[in-house]
Amino acid sequence: MKKRAAAGGGKEAAGIVTAVYETLYDRFGPQGWWPVTAGGETEARYSGGPVCDGQRFEVAAGAVLTQNTSWANASRAVGNLVRRGALDPESILSMDVRVLAELIKPSGYYNRKAVILKELAACFPPRAEITRESLLAVSGIGPETADSIMLYAFGEPFFVVDAYTIRVFSRIGLIVPGECYENVRTFFEGNLPADAGIFQEYHALIVKVAKEFCRRKPLCGGCPLNPHCGRETA
Ligand code: SF4
Repeated sequence: MKKRAAAGGGKEAAGIVTAVYETLYDRFGPQGWWPVTAGGETEARYSGGPVCDGQRFEVAAGAVLTQNTSWANASRAVGNLVRRGALDPESILSMDVRVLAELIKPSGYYNRKAVILKELAACFPPRAEITRESLLAVSGIGPETADSIMLYAFGEPFFVVDAYTIRVFSRIGLIVPGECYENVRTFFEGNLPADAGIFQEYHALIVKVAKEFCRRKPLCGGCPLNPHCGRETA
């Protein structure tokens, strides 16, 4: 298939962005992001997203803990904090940073993440004061983590961009490889309805297709995005 020129917008781009979403949703279904613990459970699971300040903080902490590691590892750190009764801003703020680091060890980079969690905890609550900008002001929270918190903790329509997004959509031909984070985010936000539910599902579906098919060495044969894809060898 001939490679398309990278599109910044317009009807064609919007049509492809929507078609990709529908194709992925039809193939994989809802992905259940973001899981949280409830009622004394130590295992996070999806039950419609966070419904209280405690669960919103849990999502935010999880977004930090999953930086540079799998959700499975981050989830083990979340479980440790829940078992300790420490997955709330007050407990994290009052805890010795070395104890906190030990609890979140399964997530990797635990000394650094313990410092980030303490700074993040100082932002919570009240919700009214938390903005994308205030999150970005926390050392160690970049655009991807800030947008994950805004989208999955607070239901604000910020599109989360990660390495999988860049890989899949540059191969499809809608993004220039190496495009900056903000340009990619505004590309998606400009070509989709401002609906947090769609943004949540779309990001999770991109991760799914990237892990199953659009790997470093892509498995184009069975990929549901093949009809939309501009990759030369697809
Ligand atoms: S067809 Fe191949 S290159 Fe295109 S999205 Fe699927 S796996 Fe990636």
